[in-house]
Amino acid sequence: MSSPRFRPYEEDIDRQSPNRNLAPVSAEVDAEQQLWVGGCRLADLAAHYGTPLYVLDETTLRAGCRAYRQALTSHYPGESLVLYASKAHSSLAMAALMTSEGLGLDVVSAGELLTAIAGGANPRNIVLHGNNKSRGELELALEHGVTVVLDNWWELDLLERLCGQREQRVRLLIRFTPGIECHTHEYIRTGHLDSKFGFDLEELDGVLRRLAMAPWAEVAGLHAHIGSQIFELQPHGDLAAVMVKALGRARDLGHRPRDLNVGGGLGVRYVASDDPPAISAWVQTVSAAVAAACGQQNQPLPRLLCEPGRSLVATAGVTLYQVGSRKEIPGVRTYVAVDGGMSDNPRPITYQSRYTACLPQRCRDAATETVTVAGKHCESGDVLLHHIPLPPVASGDLLAVFATGAYNASMASNYNRIPRPAAVLAHGGQARLVQRRETNQDLLHWDVLPEHLDQSGPVPIR
Ligand SMILES: *Cc1c(COP(=O)(O)O)cnc(C)c1O
Repeated sequence: MSSPRFRPYEEDIDRQSPNRNLAPVSAEVDAEQQLWVGGCRLADLAAHYGTPLYVLDETTLRAGCRAYRQALTSHYPGESLVLYASKAHSSLAMAALMTSEGLGLDVVSAGELLTAIAGGANPRNIVLHGNNKSRGELELALEHGVTVVLDNWWELDLLERLCGQREQRVRLLIRFTPGIECHTHEYIRTGHLDSKFGFDLEELDGVLRRLAMAPWAEVAGLHAHIGSQIFELQPHGDLAAVMVKALGRARDLGHRPRDLNVGGGLGVRYVASDDPPAISAWVQTVSAAVAAACGQQNQPLPRLLCEPGRSLVATAGVTLYQVGSRKEIPGVRTYVAVDGGMSDNPRPITYQSRYTACLPQRCRDAATETVTVAGKHCESGDVLLHHIPLPPVASGDLLAVFATGAYNASMASNYNRIPRPAAVLAHGGQARLVQRRETNQDLLHWDVLPEHLDQSGPVPIR
């Protein structure tokens, strides 16, 4: 067995582009082989907060925000705004942190919208997405003066009525599918023509004409999002050109759009073989493509908006588990079970996603066995990591899974009535609780036992 491929203490940690590392940028291993994140020994955090535990590294989060903002300042000659796609991880702490770094937020529901506002985001820098926004969600957006990403004709009619009733105007970005393919997992691919999101490119003219006669609507710009976990730069370059052309069309039809929102989608490193582009390279490609297309088409430079989610938060996160049972099936495989699984990380069972892990108390021990890390849920598919080389694993050991900051806590469930983990934000030797652990009592909180089924109540009718 070769030496372990994961080395958080590797010197080639990319501090400028955290999406290119497996581990948080602050990860360190001490002389006792203990892994630290944000100046906190992970074993101490597990002992204090229990497991499973989501640990978020504040330095990594801030480094990602700064990478996007600085690259836009360096490479894009016009104005720009980075919107954090809060569906990757939505919490008060994250909204506040992103706001403190000068980012706006993209939200997709009333819940995410209220979290962003309660976390201190300026409603002017919030955009509301969704292919089926409810009337209540749209009203909330109007109430707070949030920009709405117009998705479909039904929503256009609904907004027209709501704005009429409220005697109010709404700022709109029009979402369309630019027909650009990208090589990513089919379930999360949204840019091709068969997408549930947005208008077809061919419909755009009709939408723009209708809105040109709508005093209640301000067409602020256009939006497209072509997918997620993308490792190629070309699709975003092509996208920019298509969008600049569409902006020109909007101007021809009497609108004065200012914003061009290219969505998110930059990939991150989940396993050693993943090699995503740096944030600065992505920004440079998009910036150059927009500027070039504006030059060629004789259009003014729009304000450039982008909506990164995963690439800002994924590698800031580490999930800590404790190992329990082991099952060896001779000649087949060895299962090592941890105290969480598909409820705290549904990505492996949903998307066959791969991860990297280590024993955070024995980081430098050679990997001498290959195991399958299973969760504790009643599903055979509840496997977090397949065929992962590790030092000998014993029950009671801690296991750290890397790059779990995106689409883990936000997609967590209570399947099998397992409480959701706590989350802490680590920085400078201090860990601060940002989400408290659910209790078994919390799980019963929303249940209602009808009187006729209550064994302790009146005798049921027979
Ligand atoms: C999911 C999503 C994003 C963020 O995607 P990432 O791949 O996490 O960067 C941005 N914009 C929209 C509209 C999305 O649906």
